[in-house]
Amino acid sequence: MAVNTEAYKEIITALDAKKVTLVAVSKTKPIEDIQALYDLGQRDFGENYVQELADKEAVLPKDIRWHFIGHLQSNKVKFIAPFVHLIHGVDSLSLLKEINKQGSKINRVIDCLLQVHVAKEETKFGFDERELKELRELHELKNVKITGLMGMASFSDDKSLVRSEFTYLKSLFDSNAHLPISSESTAQTEVLNSPFSILSMGMSGDYTLAMEEGSTMVRIGSLIFGERNLNLKIE
Ligand SMILES: *Cc1c(COP(=O)(O)O)cnc(C)c1O
Repeated sequence: MAVNTEAYKEIITALDAKKVTLVAVSKTKPIEDIQALYDLGQRDFGENYVQELADKEAVLPKDIRWHFIGHLQSNKVKFIAPFVHLIHGVDSLSLLKEINKQGSKINRVIDCLLQVHVAKEETKFGFDERELKELRELHELKNVKITGLMGMASFSDDKSLVRSEFTYLKSLFDSNAHLPISSESTAQTEVLNSPFSILSMGMSGDYTLAMEEGSTMVRIGSLIFGERNLNLKIE
């Protein structure tokens, strides 16, 4: 299946006008499709599966910024730690600690987004509002940098529901922009208190709404690369 160049150009034009970053979600798609989009100038790509990401990273151009957007298992962090540009779906403190541990082993500070649970679906991973506020232990973690939040709205045709979830995410983004509030060491406060800069929300079906509500980064797959095999799970 080929890349939809026309759709890509339209999306890029709309995003550029609002200074929103596109992460082209290439999960399950072949190397050739990624290379084709790369040749059009795209550099940010998102993947959901560790092995697939590692395989693709090994053969594709080294200036690609790889985003891990799936549900990351702690025992697999080490495989992507050396090169991953941004981990979007950090959904527990124990995962954050593992990323920190792997980062420290290779002397890298790894950028992460905290995933927020907003959608109604039971299966969605992530922190809720209260848990976000409780993340005080973060000041011990020197090899991760929390650069923002990531969220997924409900899979629903109800636009007002989806919009309200994005509005809520944006409000959490604004109110937690300087999290964590307490820190014992000034040196570390400097890194950790750097304000959030990334709000990752919006996919093929809802990115326009997400942008209207303040998204700074959208993750778009099927609009650009075509539909995926439907029996593959999104998580
Ligand atoms: C697959 C996936 C996307 C892209 O979905 P499309 O509907 O194909 O744009 C975005 N975000 C996450 C977390 C995904 O798993």
